[in-house]
Amino acid sequence: MSAAGQGPNKPLKPVKALARPRFPARLDELLPQAAKPSSLPREHLAKPAPPSVPSRGVGMDSVAVRRGMVQKIAALGIHDAGVLAAMDKVERHLFVDSALVGQAYEDTSLPIGLGQTISKPSVVARMLALLVQGRPSPLGRVLEIGTGCGYQAALLAQLATEVYSIERLRGLHDKARANLRLLRLPNLHLLYGDGMLAFAKGAPYAAIIAAAGGEAIPAAWTEQLAMGGRLVAPVHVDAQSQALMVVDKTPQGLVYNRHEAVHFVPLKSGTL
Ligand code: SAH
Repeated sequence: MSAAGQGPNKPLKPVKALARPRFPARLDELLPQAAKPSSLPREHLAKPAPPSVPSRGVGMDSVAVRRGMVQKIAALGIHDAGVLAAMDKVERHLFVDSALVGQAYEDTSLPIGLGQTISKPSVVARMLALLVQGRPSPLGRVLEIGTGCGYQAALLAQLATEVYSIERLRGLHDKARANLRLLRLPNLHLLYGDGMLAFAKGAPYAAIIAAAGGEAIPAAWTEQLAMGGRLVAPVHVDAQSQALMVVDKTPQGLVYNRHEAVHFVPLKSGTL
């Protein structure tokens, strides 16, 4: 994992230089490892935390409790093996405050500070399942808008060759960096900035996922999506309610599919 923490007026810059695909980029060029599975050992995508990692007093066998969470998610109809394996592997209790670890594997959203929340595991799983459904595995380069505590970013790092995750609140960007440090995910890059602008330097993306709901999908997101790429985001359908929206970028244009109602924190512009 690497992190970039620029001030709001400086251009965003990941620490690692990006190998830019040639223009026009094709999705299969963004997926070199997918085409050559042997070049992408799964263990290089995500190394589990070493056993010495303090469990923040979780006071339970987190493997068994996490497995229970995954079984409940599967019972809700989410069967993608890669998504379930990622949720089985990433320790959600490492991403919540110590007072909340007892609830880390319940299907509930939890506060992560600065008025933001980590989504319910079943909603996270549902969004990831929509993102990967019918797509090559692993996904190519992925952009997450709204790093929050970093939990979903860690899951994405299991499912994609490269992940850029952007957060507008400095406090949460720093918190995610601290939470993720011990997991050592070399394919995950944290960015501090306004995700409404996406992150042009990493574009085009095979997939974009947002964890905050806006009035509409910002143009920068669909512009920075690769041809054949997919975007999953909560979007307001009226003042009170949001729905999950899936957008596929096809040669015939953008194809929008609206799914179930959800409730996410608001997508806001600028940085704090
Ligand atoms: N995926 C996160 C969920 C965090 S909640 C997790 O696993 O914890 C959504 C996050 O989106 C909040 O932290 C909020 O600050 C952030 N956010 C809202 N608008 C944003 C924007 N324009 N750019 C980047 N992050 C944004």
